[in-house]
Amino acid sequence: MQQIDYSASQLRRFTGYLRDYKLAFALAVVGMIGYSAVDTYVVSQLQPLIDESLGNSDHEYLRLAAYAIVPLFLLRGLFNFLGTYMLSWIGSRVVMRMRQQLFEKYIHLPVSFHDNNAVGGLISKVTYDTEQVANASGKALLTIVREGAFVIGLLGVMFYQSWELSLVFLVIGPVVAVIVAFVSKRFRIVSRNIQLSMGNVTSAVEQAVKGHKVVLMFGGQKIEEDRFAKKNNFNRQQTMKLAVTQILSVSSIQVIASIALAVVLFIASTPQMIEELTAGVFISVVFYMVLLLKPLKQLTTVNNEFQKGMAACTSVFEVLDENDEPDNGTVTKQRVKGNLSFENVTFTYPGKNIPALKNISFSAKAGETVALVGRSGSGKSTISSLLTRFYSPQQGEVLLDDISLEDYDLKSLRSQFALVSQHVTLFNDTIANNIAYGSLEKVSRKDIEQAADIAHVTEFLAQLPDGLDSIVGENGLMLSGGQRQRIAIARAILTNAPVLILDEATSALDTESERLIQDALEKLQKERTSIVVAHRLSTIENADQIIVVEQGQIIEKGKHHELLEKQGHYAQLHTLQFGDAG
Ligand code: ADP
Ligand code: MG
Repeated sequence: MQQIDYSASQLRRFTGYLRDYKLAFALAVVGMIGYSAVDTYVVSQLQPLIDESLGNSDHEYLRLAAYAIVPLFLLRGLFNFLGTYMLSWIGSRVVMRMRQQLFEKYIHLPVSFHDNNAVGGLISKVTYDTEQVANASGKALLTIVREGAFVIGLLGVMFYQSWELSLVFLVIGPVVAVIVAFVSKRFRIVSRNIQLSMGNVTSAVEQAVKGHKVVLMFGGQKIEEDRFAKKNNFNRQQTMKLAVTQILSVSSIQVIASIALAVVLFIASTPQMIEELTAGVFISVVFYMVLLLKPLKQLTTVNNEFQKGMAACTSVFEVLDENDEPDNGTVTKQRVKGNLSFENVTFTYPGKNIPALKNISFSAKAGETVALVGRSGSGKSTISSLLTRFYSPQQGEVLLDDISLEDYDLKSLRSQFALVSQHVTLFNDTIANNIAYGSLEKVSRKDIEQAADIAHVTEFLAQLPDGLDSIVGENGLMLSGGQRQRIAIARAILTNAPVLILDEATSALDTESERLIQDALEKLQKERTSIVVAHRLSTIENADQIIVVEQGQIIEKGKHHELLEKQGHYAQLHTLQFGDAG
């Protein structure tokens, strides 16, 4: 009941992926049906084998069978290969295509999408859900076509050999199918409970082990023990339920099978039947009934498999249906002058009620430096995110060279900015390639070395095995925070963009390195419009304009000495950082 049934449109969309593989698909079906046909043929020879050959001591037939058996199985192997190979081939293509589509989607989606979606989930869509689509639907298809054909074939042979005995199966078969369906449903529910309770057990252990010191300090052992005991026992109970279901189902199916056998025996014992029935017919019909159980069981549960695949499909399609970053602007510029202005900008993050920025207005002429100061959470980084159009304001406008940011072509717009933020992202590549990221075609090795020099990257290269060509490890794990930041600064230097955004760019540096880099950054700011989010006030004393932000609003604006004289918020912050001496 809890299963969602997927609409036809979902299925149609999925089959869209198969459209290019019609031939492969046809070959797969031929393989699967051929496989079942050989199987059916082989088992249909049981009756003549018993009656004609063994019963009548006809060695001809046995000889023939001896010759035929190996080629038959070779043929079966070939069909099997064709069917499963083609299915895997199609599956692997579908997985690859979905992965590529997801990947491309991820890097075109707006920042707000990634704010709201956990990384783990997005990764598992690419790695796991896509596999699941192919596996589950491949398995479903294999079952329907191959086992379906086998069941039809077997039933045909069975009825041909003795319709009277076969009728028994038609009565008993559905009963078994119902039981199997019921049991497998229960299995699924219990299995899910086991999974959940296993998760509970794991997280209880994790918490207790991670918080070991807290547990010790607060004498929490007893509480933790009891809590764990409950989860532990629940898990055990679920495991037992599964075992009981399994035992009961096996037994009940066996009892039903025995009833079927009893009925068959009874019918066989009637006078007119015993005349007619040969040993071969009797044995082979019973044999067919046993053979039918497995494919029937698979067919009754094929819908689950199919639903699993469709659920994974939905998870993939959901993301593919998300809208890309809006990019409707047409203005492209080689290099802007760098006149910036915010006009009454109000911005609320998607899904939030309180605006992060309220009525923000300020402007910076080309070449000027604007410093943003304020408590953490006041909205400074949000201002820089609006500049690069990671988000768009709901009210007001941000202008670059008197043109609204919305009117720029995104790529062109972003190439006007060099951004260094407190969170440095490095790719698992060489330092040189990380510095040149995004401008690799345009720059020479010499440019990279120069940028590395200015940003004081060269200083720590000596400790690394391959200098500039050392691999930084995933997200630069091999480097310290300060070293990563210096690489980011070198990257910004190399970009040579007309607008520079430094969002606490030197926060991870010690005072000594900060002073060194400050020189470099100041040189960089000279020829550019710069928005600097300062975390140390000493670095922005020379700014053309200092803006104090508080709870998304500008509360003070002016030059360093003006603001100090005013004795307002800035002066207060200043006193906090420098003490009375400042
Ligand atoms: P600052 O850079 O001044 O420390 P931010 O601009 O990062 O502050 O944040 C301003 C406010 O917006 C904070 O209240 C913060 O919680 C909120 N905020 C920041 N980023 C997001 C986001 N991606 N989604 C929702 N709210 C955010
Ligand atoms: Mg910030």
